[in-house]
Order: sequence, then structure tokens, then C-alpha cells
Amino acid sequence: MDKILSMVQLQAQLNDATNGEKWTDGITKNGKSINWKRCIYMECAEMVDSFSWKHWKSIDKEPDWANHQIEVVDVWHFIISLGLEYYAQNLKGGVEELSLHFSELPSFSNISTETTHFASQDEVIAKVEDLIRLALSSDALDLDKMVNDFFELVLMSGLNLDSLYRLYVGKNILNQFRQDHGYKDGSYIKVWNGEEDNVLMKRIWETNSDIKPDVLYKELEKAYSAL
Ligand code: MG
Ligand code: MG
Repeated sequence: MDKILSMVQLQAQLNDATNGEKWTDGITKNGKSINWKRCIYMECAEMVDSFSWKHWKSIDKEPDWANHQIEVVDVWHFIISLGLEYYAQNLKGGVEELSLHFSELPSFSNISTETTHFASQDEVIAKVEDLIRLALSSDALDLDKMVNDFFELVLMSGLNLDSLYRLYVGKNILNQFRQDHGYKDGSYIKVWNGEEDNVLMKRIWETNSDIKPDVLYKELEKAYSAL
């Protein structure tokens, strides 16, 4: 419960900082409308692109599981956000209530295990497409189905609650870092010495598993200013 609560808390903070306090009304402080479902299906497409799904190009390319896992975490940012928006708009509560609800879903106990495995590329893509269908559905939002599918995808992607949590905190900090360094106006540099900032964030996190979020932020700052 503490891990899910702190992820939902971090997401609420990131959204407040990025979009202003009224983001659950569906509009940012800059007057841009927010569409979390679109965010979800676009990031789902990035997941599919981590695999060699094209039958006509680079057909023997190995799946990029590391990138896929980062996209899983990106989608998680947006599913939490959609959940927070849904809870606010339907007067169901905020961070605590949503976290408790997530932790009581049947699929949550599955990701709380130690064991991880990788499903086949075709199985993973089929699960991602289930998520895309839910995000594009014109029916009322089925948040439970979406989160259950997502937790199943977490397990199929070689992740569990611990690794999802670690990657999530890392990407959340990176997203805050991007916002603080010109992401909105487009001046942020995303490729650092030939690799995406994501990859460096993951490496810093992996080489020091006890790193605190603020130290990770400082490490990113050091690397960015050296570019
Ligand atoms: Mg990407
Ligand atoms: Mg992405």
C-alpha cells in the first residue's frame, strides 16, 4: 500500500506543478485541454514500437525490453492521472481513496509478488491493444478494467510492484527535471551524448538502488550541465 500511495502522491504533485492545481477539471494553467486517454493510447503505441512488429522491416530485430519498460511506466503516469481526474470529477475522493482502491483490485496482489517473467512479444502487444481499446472506447470509463489490464501487462513485461515503483519514481523525477529545464517551450535537450535521457536515468537508478529522489535529480543536473 505504501508504494502505491507514494506513486499516486508523486503523480498528483507532478500534475499540480506541471498543469496547475485545477488540472482535474481537464484544463492546464496554460489553457491547454488535457486528454489523459489520448496520452495513454499514444504511449501504448510507443510500447508497440519497442517490438519488431513490422513484417516488412528489420524482421529479426530483438525486442527492446528496456525501452518497453520505460513506456510501461509512462503509461502508468497517465493511468494514475486519469484515475485522479475520474475520482475528482465523480466526487469519489483524492490520492488516498484512489490508492486504496488500486491496492484492493484483484490484479494488485499479483504484482506484489517477487517473481517476474517476460511474456512473448505477441502476448504483450495483444495486452497493450486491450489497453488501447479501453482508452479509445466511447463507453464510460472502466477504470478497474484498465488498471487490471495494466497490472497484468506489468507482470508480462518482467516487472513487479518493486521494479515498477523504482522505475516510476525515476521517471517521475526525470519528468519534473524536464519541466524545470524547458520541456514546455521545446528548448529541452532529450538526447544526451547519443542516448535518451531515459536511458541515463535508468542507469543511475540501477547502479545505486538506494539513491534518494533528490540525489537522482542532482545527478541528472550534473550530467545535463556537462552537455
Ligand atoms: Mg519513448
Ligand atoms: Mg514514452
